[in-house]
Amino acid sequence: MALRIGNEHLESIRQHGARDYPSECCGILLGKADGDAKQVMEVVPLTNLRHDPGRAQELLPLDDQSRETDRNRFLINPLDQLRVEKGARARGLDVLGYYHSHPDHPARPSNYDRDHAWPWYSYVIIAVERGVPKDLTSWVLAEDRATFGTEAIIGDL
Ligand SMILES: [Zn+2]
Repeated sequence: MALRIGNEHLESIRQHGARDYPSECCGILLGKADGDAKQVMEVVPLTNLRHDPGRAQELLPLDDQSRETDRNRFLINPLDQLRVEKGARARGLDVLGYYHSHPDHPARPSNYDRDHAWPWYSYVIIAVERGVPKDLTSWVLAEDRATFGTEAIIGDL
């Protein structure tokens, strides 16, 4: 499957990455999937819960908080996730995947990204170098979780 996404949506992901730099931004991709492609119809920016370490610790306790910062991790508030999913369903849309930024790092998934990915969903990564959005890639985890490979992105014709 490929990810079909229009320029306006690509642009809103890039701008979100630039806006939240040097922190990681994150958001959800909504739309419809057919046999060949996932068609993105809405991009929903979310707050990276890592901006709020106290709340993050409350929702997802970590043994060693010092390794988790909003520069190297993103965390979606489960309540935001539920709200977006519910709203999407009411409009006949599905969650197709997620996006997040890599401030001053390449647009490749980290081990953390891979460990927290689910098969089928698209994981879009936007690299942001010194505040400027650069490469944008999409990744999909295989059903057996063996590979986390790139997914073709089809933009506007
Ligand atoms: Zn990442």
